[in-house]
Amino acid sequence: MNVFVETRDRYRTYSKYLKEKYGGRVHKISINLPGTCPNRDGTRSTGGCIYCDEEGSGFNALPSTMSVREQVEKSREYLKKRFKAEKFISYFQSYTNTYLSLDKFKTNIRDALGPDIVGISVSTRPDCVQEEYLDALGEIKDEWGVDINVELGLQTVNYRTLKKINRGHTLAEFVDAVNRIKPRGFEICVHMILNLPWDDITDVVEGAKFLSALGVHYVKLHSLYIVEGTPLGEMFKKGEIEVAPLSEYVRRVGAFLEYLDPNIVIQRLAAKGPKGKLLFCNWGLSLWAVKQEIERYLEEQDIYQGKKFNYLKRNL
Ligand code: SF4
Repeated sequence: MNVFVETRDRYRTYSKYLKEKYGGRVHKISINLPGTCPNRDGTRSTGGCIYCDEEGSGFNALPSTMSVREQVEKSREYLKKRFKAEKFISYFQSYTNTYLSLDKFKTNIRDALGPDIVGISVSTRPDCVQEEYLDALGEIKDEWGVDINVELGLQTVNYRTLKKINRGHTLAEFVDAVNRIKPRGFEICVHMILNLPWDDITDVVEGAKFLSALGVHYVKLHSLYIVEGTPLGEMFKKGEIEVAPLSEYVRRVGAFLEYLDPNIVIQRLAAKGPKGKLLFCNWGLSLWAVKQEIERYLEEQDIYQGKKFNYLKRNL
């Protein structure tokens, strides 16, 4: 049965979920910190993930030269005026936010708290989830009563593709991170790119089943964008890779949603890249147009999230 029939949604949308959970308009405040990542500074690798641009995937936030407090204040005022936002989630978005000293990490998190902040979201790598940092987040949760969300990049469950894109970790590190984060009562959001050139639809379906079995809370789906100056950009310019057509991306999103646990909240269906540096992004369409195309396909094919979620023993 489609659990979304009443709401006419074919997947569990983040905006609706936030409204239900917090009883008002909730927006994320993106915080951009200067930093690096073990996959760029030589600890794991010097190249970084092959699609990562020099901003460390935090291009749509305020400049990292501003303090955490300044960024929170400025964004909060803007979001209140522009969207009538009432509550906020402080979102440490760029680079690997647990790859800095523990003291600095604690200070940053405390500077991002406030009376209308209902959550802290920390973006990091599965191989950078250290117990002391989780302890620090646990203290903040107890003291301030905020929700803690840890965002992990995974991108694909295909072991060989993980190597190709130079993620610098495998599935084992990801499972280990999830197993250590979940018992603390924190939420987990996972980033997946559904149209990596080395993956096919079976990888996508397995990705949905894998995340459902692990019981993560949120998923962010990304359409692959290609940035000038990255190793992926070089491959693209040399004709070594091809991006599948939009129709294939849409089909993969549909398959992913069908197999995904209907309780998992979808934070996005596609991505948009940094302006001015893009070699490829969303087939020349706006993010909105891609989202509409996906929703039209779901409707036409009568696809809804969890339609094929019947493969876990815990559900029998
Ligand atoms: S883990 Fe994130 S910041 Fe590090 S190289 Fe990959 S995409 Fe870039």
